Amino acid sequence: MTDKAELAFIVNPLDRAAPRRGDPDWLKARREQEAVRNIAFVGDKVLVSANGATPHLAPPCPDWPGRAGAGERSVFLGLAPDGTAVFAELLDADEEAFAPFVARGDLQAIDLRSLASEGALPAEELGVLAQARSLLGWHATHRFCSTCGAPTEMGDAGYKRVCPSCGREHFPRTDPVVIMLAIRGDKCLLGRQSRFAPGVYSALAGFVEPGETIEDACRRELMEEAGIATGAVRYHSSQPWPFPSSLMIGLMADALDEEISLVDEELEDARWFTREEARAMLEGTHPDGIRAPNPIAIARHLLMSFVSGGRA
Ligand SMILES: [Zn+2]
Repeated sequence: MTDKAELAFIVNPLDRAAPRRGDPDWLKARREQEAVRNIAFVGDKVLVSANGATPHLAPPCPDWPGRAGAGERSVFLGLAPDGTAVFAELLDADEEAFAPFVARGDLQAIDLRSLASEGALPAEELGVLAQARSLLGWHATHRFCSTCGAPTEMGDAGYKRVCPSCGREHFPRTDPVVIMLAIRGDKCLLGRQSRFAPGVYSALAGFVEPGETIEDACRRELMEEAGIATGAVRYHSSQPWPFPSSLMIGLMADALDEEISLVDEELEDARWFTREEARAMLEGTHPDGIRAPNPIAIARHLLMSFVSGGRA
């Protein structure tokens, strides 16, 4: 029950080559490598092969150009273990470069969440795609300087943007999110939002706010969402969550009371579940049809740890 093999986006085999990627000559040589790999996104969807049950990404079909562009929309992700340079590129939806491939059924654009849920890709592919999606998404939404408003330019192979007007450098953002299981004796706290699939209960979660420790964010969210006071907080695991660019920080927290109050109305319900109920949820045998969250998400793995007796 503690196997984390299904947790998505946590395996990334690339060497990001941070000391070298800012060198334009080095980067140009990587682009011109024989075996360069270019992952193409259209908006927030990745282009994958449509001919065959298992999508593969490099190249998505035999006559795909595959060459990494050198423009504003191409970022360097890193070097694969075999030395292959891996880039990612954001294409327009009406891009002529791939439209014919889609039209003849060789390519399709799929969102990353679906790819992860289907389990059709190896874990290390999902990790690289998560990196690509977050980085490309950041560039697409940070084209102007937040200090002076001037258009910015990509630098450091995609790991910063520079303002030519005021000189300010901007760096890709990752937003920390606490996701936690409050535990009281033999019970854990789960809640559901109205947008969840029917019957699904999950761990409570929320963004870390400025000037806040991880532990305090965990205690604040549990108080705001469920009215539960919390003592000790323990780290469990973390997971990149590229929708668009979060880092999920999985925690176990000792609840100090059991009286639930849905203070901020973010949840439509919150309940305490015994270890046996949680086990039934994971196994799909809960008598009320209550279900655990998706295996790709950290919430399910917190629940698995709780059921197997782990405190963190
Ligand atoms: Zn500026």
